[in-house]
Amino acid sequence: MDADVIVVGAGLAGAAAALKLSKAGKRVRVIEARDRCGGRGYAKAYAGDGPQLEFGGAWITPWHDRLRALVPEHGLSLRPRAPVTNRLWLRDGVLQGNGAASPDDVTAHERAIARVAVDSILLKKGLTENEKGEALTGLSFAAYLDRLGCPKSTRDLFSAWWTVSGNGDHHKVAASEFLASCSYDNGLAEGMIRFWSDTVVPGMGVLAERMIAASGAELILDDPVTQVVQESGHVEVIAGAWRHRAKACIVALGINQMPAIGFTPWLSDSKTAALAAGHGGRSFKLWLRAEGVPVGTLVTGDGSGIEFAFAERTENGTTYIVAFGLMQEGNHPADPAWVKAEAAKLFPNARIISHDWHDWVDDPFARGTWVAALAGHEAGYESSNWQPEGRIAFASSDYAREQAGWFEGAVISGEDAAEAVLVFR
Ligand SMILES: Cc1cc2nc3c(=O)[nH]c(=O)nc-3n(C[C@H](O)[C@H](O)[C@H](O)COP(=O)(O)OP(=O)(O)OC[C@H]3O[C@@H](n4cnc5c(N)ncnc54)[C@H](O)[C@@H]3O)c2cc1C
Repeated sequence: MDADVIVVGAGLAGAAAALKLSKAGKRVRVIEARDRCGGRGYAKAYAGDGPQLEFGGAWITPWHDRLRALVPEHGLSLRPRAPVTNRLWLRDGVLQGNGAASPDDVTAHERAIARVAVDSILLKKGLTENEKGEALTGLSFAAYLDRLGCPKSTRDLFSAWWTVSGNGDHHKVAASEFLASCSYDNGLAEGMIRFWSDTVVPGMGVLAERMIAASGAELILDDPVTQVVQESGHVEVIAGAWRHRAKACIVALGINQMPAIGFTPWLSDSKTAALAAGHGGRSFKLWLRAEGVPVGTLVTGDGSGIEFAFAERTENGTTYIVAFGLMQEGNHPADPAWVKAEAAKLFPNARIISHDWHDWVDDPFARGTWVAALAGHEAGYESSNWQPEGRIAFASSDYAREQAGWFEGAVISGEDAAEAVLVFR
């Protein structure tokens, strides 16, 4: 045997699994496709020489206890998010400071906000229908918005918050992704940002790297795994020309990453179906460098292009703004001219200097952003669908039993998978 357990993937789920296994005295080998740890947690210098910024996941919440313990344990620290001090809405092409809705639409707007609040709280309580018998699961965000029948300005507002929650095609991703995120703060979409309380310094990837180093696991980078073969009494993991043999394996990969691996024997029908559907997380996140924007400014857009932008911090006199939109036709987040034109709509009085980003959808080892369940396929992302098969356990934030979609979920899922394979001696 090359190890007691082979962990495929050095994201936060793989790192948490390695750490837990080593504490139980197991010999672990971690095999990672990239040249770095952290996966969808990826801090790098803005434009090569700017401040370190998170281009993947960034924020943790006040209730992310596992991460709050791991950060100081591994010599890292937390930076609180700047408070929102200036709230602006783009409406009819003009920036407004007096709310999302035009005066004529205020009643319909408030009604829609209240409906979302009730629906989100019912969903949080485990109900799949509201008191009118209307479905809360199994329908797309677009279908949900149609049912709400709200004014365009309200729709635009929800669409902006969608880019940081459901984050995919309005017609495909489940409305429940939006409702679940609203439920953090009494059903209010606007409440989502209140719980993005801290970022990890210097970065989530460094945390994953230190956790793996502390585990004493052997780390192999730059080596994509292509096959996982279950034999009687052991597992073989094939990466490049190498066959790695261990008593058990943890596949610490998300829903959109796993289809690159051939499993022998095949995975269960329900897992295979979930992998065939994939998840729909397709936002773009980019950083803008600008002058003339006060930190704490939050602007939401008009339902297209860059839809959400928050001025997070200043360094050497310039402001760094984190911005989101959807990877869809008409949006060109790689194109500096398009980004500048879009940013100018949200910050008309600012000088937009440059932007930087990472394309997670085109990234061969991510194939998407954070998990976003497709409407009608919700069961496939449940942790109950990702229980071990023989000597193989599965770990990812995408299907964590708690806090799915967050880094915290990755840690929980990694620890659960480690626990599951401890039985193999
Ligand atoms: C733009 C963006 C913003 C986000 N914002 C937040 C946020 O604010 N807060 C938050 O908590 N979460 C956020 N997330 C989600 C968070 O980043 C993820 O939930 C978390 O990183 C997932 O961890 P994981 O270990 O499950 O998967 P990953 O981080 O994807 O780790 C999987 C690892 O497996 C590797 N791999 C893939 N294929 C192979 C292969 N064939 N062989 C070997 N290795 C392979 C990958 O390179 C990767 O390192 C965001 C994500 C993105 C993309």
